[in-house]
Amino acid sequence: MRIACFSTKAYDRLSFTDANRDFGHEIGFLEPRLDAVTATLAAGWPVVCAFVNDHLDASTLAVLAEGGTRLVALRCAGFNNIDLSAAAALGVAVVRVPAYSPHAVSEFTIGLMISLDRKIHRAWARVRENNFALDGLLGLGLHGRVAGVVGTGRIGALVARALRQGFGCEVLATDRVVDAGLVAAGVRYVPVEQLLAEADIVTLHCPLTPETHHLVDAASIARARPGFQLINTSRGALVDADAVVDGLKTGQIGGVALDVYEQEGDLFFEDLSNEIIQDDVFQRLLTFPNVLVTGHQAFLTHPALHAIAHTTLSSVSAFAAGLPLANRVPAPPAA
Ligand code: NAD
Repeated sequence: MRIACFSTKAYDRLSFTDANRDFGHEIGFLEPRLDAVTATLAAGWPVVCAFVNDHLDASTLAVLAEGGTRLVALRCAGFNNIDLSAAAALGVAVVRVPAYSPHAVSEFTIGLMISLDRKIHRAWARVRENNFALDGLLGLGLHGRVAGVVGTGRIGALVARALRQGFGCEVLATDRVVDAGLVAAGVRYVPVEQLLAEADIVTLHCPLTPETHHLVDAASIARARPGFQLINTSRGALVDADAVVDGLKTGQIGGVALDVYEQEGDLFFEDLSNEIIQDDVFQRLLTFPNVLVTGHQAFLTHPALHAIAHTTLSSVSAFAAGLPLANRVPAPPAA
């Protein structure tokens, strides 16, 4: 089938071209981010492949449907950036890649956690300037500390297990589904309020939904353990960044590592090194010595890219053959 692939980078081209040897689809690689304006580029393409910051609201979907698109294949796990009700009303099916490499994201999360605590990002910059002084690089370590994992699905469960069994943390977790294996490994499920109040390190692994939007805001930060460290590799809008800046200024938050940011659509995945960044909150975040930000790269490993491309193209093949779509994202029930 013909697939218009938006927001493509060199690594997407490589992984999709390589995986497509097994499928033989026609893929058009497009650099622009998908929105209501760029959606016209997909006219005549029955399948559109989109990524995390593509903007699939009702107006974008209407343009796509008008141009003949019948399937949106999200090459990511999250589906917070698509209006599923509008897609269903327009007869556009939606698939995603529910699991490609939870290891990629969980390992990156642990990497951020250790880098933030042991100030590896600061040490790296110092050593490049021949500054080998250690003042200001004192860490707390992970062993024996209380880690709180919000969402123990595929990624959160791996993080919880690594923290508990690998690093000897006391691990608290919150999720509506209790993972018996984690409980057997010593993870304790508690309400989110208790997790926030008791955890030295809070790491977010739940999806972005209306319920979890700004889960970390001024009120929850105020209730949290003073000096706690916050890690977010899930979705930016789980966190109110203004409140985080305030929390960092008072010391209520002891450190923050983010791979995602609520307004990342204007920033991430592009080289803006010659631009003046207009987002004052983001720029303020970068001024704190105890903040570490990466540009939504937790997924970026070879195995993950291969799995993303393979699963996406195999969903397209199933769609072309009229087979059931195993990775279909259903429309929410009508309100
Ligand atoms: P998953 O669906 O396997 O797990 C999500 C878990 O969150 C589930 O167990 C669910 O019950 C739980 N949950 C839902 N609402 C909750 C709430 N209010 N409080 C606590 N828990 C709640 O998803 P996953 O594969 O583990 O991915 C988690 C998130 O990671 C995704 O939603 C996606 O946004 C993000 N992600 C980020 C990257 C990246 O590159 N940074 C890559 C992949 C996924």
